[in-house]
Amino acid sequence: MDFGAHVWRNGQLIKSEDAKTSLINHALHYGSGVFEGIRCYKTERGTAVFRLKEHMERLQYSGSVLEIKMPHSVQDLCQATLELLKANNLESGYIRPVACFGEGKMGLNPHGADIDVFIAAWAWGKYLSDDPITVGTSPWIRIHPKSLQADAKINGHYVNSIMSSQWAHNNNYQEALLLDYKGNLAEGPGENLFIIKDGEMFTPELGTILNGITRATIMELSEKELGIKTIQKTLTPADLLNADEAFFTGTAAEVTILKSIDGNQIGTQANEISGQLKQLYADVVEGRVEKYNDWLSYV
Ligand code: PMP
Repeated sequence: MDFGAHVWRNGQLIKSEDAKTSLINHALHYGSGVFEGIRCYKTERGTAVFRLKEHMERLQYSGSVLEIKMPHSVQDLCQATLELLKANNLESGYIRPVACFGEGKMGLNPHGADIDVFIAAWAWGKYLSDDPITVGTSPWIRIHPKSLQADAKINGHYVNSIMSSQWAHNNNYQEALLLDYKGNLAEGPGENLFIIKDGEMFTPELGTILNGITRATIMELSEKELGIKTIQKTLTPADLLNADEAFFTGTAAEVTILKSIDGNQIGTQANEISGQLKQLYADVVEGRVEKYNDWLSYV
């Protein structure tokens, strides 16, 4: 896999082959880092990053939860991303900023370890399928909000997502769905969930889930463009089973429609509203809707 010729690390662009770290690295041992996943798209006006500032703000927020003192501002990180995309000559792809405790300290208190901040960017196509996907309910529940800070994107949290994803693939589902500790609907391993019933749209409330940037984007687009206001509330597995339509949202997954849950088809699969939102999202991220151009940072 080609991960791009350059990476940005601690304030400068360097060749990817020169980006090395010791095996005695705090984040490698304990997952003590925070990260983001961002996409850039090919548009008529060149490459554009979707909601770059919001992603870097969430990186700063996640860092503050883990007490990572970030030596770079949101603005600096946004600028660094655009420079990296130019250096890697990337038309469209995926951007992965990480801020972590690195070398210089072992033991569970990371205080004293180096803070390592880097951004990688590479070409990456569809994460899930363009067609509706089969989903299975994971036996692993979403992390408990009193064990960890569920709305921070902390590397170590993702073992929960990895194990759910492994379970899904071992059981021939295309993706997993995680319930929360009360047995209510939470989210996918890397996606938020929406359901549609009788023309109304619902999504699980915040608390145990990641506060997704695509989730917020879809709520805004559906209200402004389709006149559908999303209701954020507690949702049960039965709500999904009885839904007319359901879809996942995420930077990597974009809008991915659900075909079935645990082998049960969802609705009639006409997917009228989710189909419209999927198309609208693609039009917005690829710069075809002037009104939402503020969400794009051009390289
Ligand atoms: N939930 C989890 C657990 C995720 O990792 C992601 C991906 N960042 C999402 C939801 C979707 O968030 P976003 O739309 O900001 O990419």
